[in-house]
Amino acid sequence: MRAVPSGISLGVVGDPVEHSLSPRMHEAALRSVGIEGRYLAIRVPQAEFEDAIAHLAACRFLGLNVTIPLKVAAAEIATTDDPIVEDIHVANCLLMVDEVRCRNFDVPGFLSPISYLSPNAALILGAGGAAASAAYALLKSGWDVAIWNRSPSTGTSLCAALAPFGRVEFRAEPNPEGCSLVVNSTPLGLKPGDCPPLQWSALAPNATVYDLAYRAEPTDLLAEAARRGFATVDGREMLVEQGALAFEWWLDRPAPREVMRQSIGLP
Ligand code: NDP
Repeated sequence: MRAVPSGISLGVVGDPVEHSLSPRMHEAALRSVGIEGRYLAIRVPQAEFEDAIAHLAACRFLGLNVTIPLKVAAAEIATTDDPIVEDIHVANCLLMVDEVRCRNFDVPGFLSPISYLSPNAALILGAGGAAASAAYALLKSGWDVAIWNRSPSTGTSLCAALAPFGRVEFRAEPNPEGCSLVVNSTPLGLKPGDCPPLQWSALAPNATVYDLAYRAEPTDLLAEAARRGFATVDGREMLVEQGALAFEWWLDRPAPREVMRQSIGLP
C-alpha cells in the first residue's frame, strides 16, 4: 500500500455533473479509510476539456472520474496501459502522477451486477461512451448486442466499431424482440419524468431491465419495468463498482464497497 499525502484532491468532470452521486460516495469512502481529502464535482464543457485537465493536474488533483460526454476525449488526451481503452477508445478514469493516464472501469463496473445472467441477446438504448462500454462488455462475455440510437448514424458507426468483438446490429426502433436484457445508456432518467422509449410489448417476460442513468431513487424506467413485473438493475450498482475500482487505482488500497453502497442509498 502506497503512502497517501494528506489533503488529496479527487473529483468527477462532466457536463452536466450536478446529478453525480460520486462526491457523496467517494467522500464517504475516504473518511472510512482515514484519508483526509476532498472529492469535487466539476462542470467542464467539452470544448474546455483538455485545458481543464491540464489545470487540475497543475493544482495537484490526484485522480478524476470522467462522465458524460467526455469519455472519448479522456481516452484521446491520456496514455493508457488498459486493453479496454486500446480496443474502444473510451475511458472513465484519470490518474495524474507525473503524466495523465487513463483506464476504463465502466466495462468491469457494468458487468459486475449482471454476472449472474447467462449470455443471450441484449438491446442497448443509446450509442455514446457508456453504450460503447456496455456493448463491448457484453460482446466480450458472449452476448449478442442490438443498439438503438436517436441519431441512427451514430448508432451504425458504433456497431461498425464494435463488429470485431462479436455479433452486433443496429435497430431502427427501440424494439427488444429476442432480447433478455435491455440497457438504457441514454441520460433519459437523470430527471424525474424522463424515460427512454422502449417497445414494452415485445419484451420477453423473463427479461431484465438495467438503467445506467441513475438517481438517488429508482428511475422512471426501472419503476415502470418493476410495475410490469420485469427484473431490474439500478445504475447505482455499476456506479459503486466502477468507483471502487477507481479508488483502488488512485489510492492503492481496497475500496470500502459496503460504505460506498450505503452512502448512495443501496442496501
Ligand atoms: P454520451 O453523451 O456519450 O451519450 C449519450 C447517448 O444518449 C447518445 O447516444 C445520445 O444520442 C443519447 N441521448 C441523449 N439525449 C437523448 C434524448 N433526449 N433522447 C434520446 N437519446 C438521447 O453519454 P454517456 O454515454 O457517457 O452517458 C449516458 C448515460 O449513462 C448518462 O446518464 C450517464 O450518467 C450514465 N452512466 C452511468 C454510469 C453508472 O455508473 N451508472 C456510468 C456511465 C454512464 P445521440 O447520438 O442521438 O445524441
